[in-house]
Amino acid sequence: MLGLGYNVNYDFISFIQHPTIWPPGTECVARYNFPGTADQDLPMCKGDVLTIIGVTKQTHVLYLWSLRWFHGKITRDQAERLLYPPETGLFLVRESTNFPGDYTLCVSCDSKVEHYRIIYHNGKLSIDEEEYFENLMQLMEHYTKDADGLCTRLIKPKLMEGSVAAQDEFSRSGWALNRKELKLIQTIGKGEFGDVMVGDYLGKKVAVKCIKHDATAQAFVAEASVMTQLRHTNLVQLLGVIVEEKGSLFIVTEYMAKGSLVDYLRSRGRTVIGGDCLINFSMDVCKAMEYLEANNFVHRDLAARNVLVSEDNKAKVSDFGLTKEASSTQDTAKLPVKWTSPEALREKMFSTKSDVWSYGILLWEIYSFGRVPYPRIPLKEVVPRVEKGYKMDAPDCCPAVVYDIMKECWTLDPVERPSFRELRQKLQDIIANELYR
Ligand code: AMP
Repeated sequence: MLGLGYNVNYDFISFIQHPTIWPPGTECVARYNFPGTADQDLPMCKGDVLTIIGVTKQTHVLYLWSLRWFHGKITRDQAERLLYPPETGLFLVRESTNFPGDYTLCVSCDSKVEHYRIIYHNGKLSIDEEEYFENLMQLMEHYTKDADGLCTRLIKPKLMEGSVAAQDEFSRSGWALNRKELKLIQTIGKGEFGDVMVGDYLGKKVAVKCIKHDATAQAFVAEASVMTQLRHTNLVQLLGVIVEEKGSLFIVTEYMAKGSLVDYLRSRGRTVIGGDCLINFSMDVCKAMEYLEANNFVHRDLAARNVLVSEDNKAKVSDFGLTKEASSTQDTAKLPVKWTSPEALREKMFSTKSDVWSYGILLWEIYSFGRVPYPRIPLKEVVPRVEKGYKMDAPDCCPAVVYDIMKECWTLDPVERPSFRELRQKLQDIIANELYR
């Protein structure tokens, strides 16, 4: 039995029982020998079966388990199908379709499904507008203890399929870092999901992405679990993940001292950055993309804003949030139109070849020192013109051999576009023969 008052490091245990939300009685098994380092620690031997009799703190493993009841944007009907066959207390959370930004708690009770709107007000969440919670975790915890006005208390989460493997792998595979060792120093950027901070982890300078609130946790976990699978000198390296007690999530990556490539190019300009530097950036990104291509990963959001520059001027591809294993489809509404290939915009056909198109745009950004692509063309005219075969002019002073590569990347038929492997060979040739000067 795990006694209340003992510190238990949840990294060391995995659950045997089907996980509901940390109810007393949940069984778990010790995955490692743990002699304990303080009086409060409960020593355990690998394979020990332990029963939780109470949980005083939320911890990251529990948090990751718990995220699995969050099903994102699904409809009312889909939710009802997921909660079939009926089982009182079976529940899930989805994003509200009627009230964007709010959530809906769907609970099965006496063979019916009730849908409760969770309103998001002044940064807090509430169902009855009496009791407010900091995040979904706290709200769930409350209603697992007591129905408090709902048709039933929450008993069993309906787990999301698909994301389960990634999250399990993530918590099991040792990517969890110790919050106590991380010092957050200052904010260095704003991302789509929240602030990016510079920090110190065990004396090493690191970059930390901090989550805004629960809805985006899912996306963050997806991003982090993609990052655990990829390792290349030109990809921004994941160092680990931390989930705080209150449910905030941090993704810790290597620190890239010179910031985003687009800012780097704009702030220094052609007086400072030479042709060798431009071709090296192009080559660095190409190598990272060749690696993704070989591993069947599609980035989907390749652009100079998503490439970072290290202290020693190495370019590394970042932002794997949208990266999916090849050939899946996605919502086209939020796509960066000027970087996305015509077939991806039209038919959601994302592939390594659509990344090649974006790489051509990125090359144009590099050689124009960070200009926004398709200058002087209104955004709504870009796609119709590109579809008719329009291609941007070469940036000023761009070597012809590099412009030829851009144009090849912008071949309308994706099949005809070069692969990253071929592009890397062409760049190698250009470098070896000093054609970039
Ligand atoms: P993102 O959320 O990845 O788009 O990041 C937003 C901004 O934060 C970037 O444009 C960079 O300026 C900064 N940033 C992100 N990741 C890092 C990192 N690993 N090292 C240094 N700065 C970063």
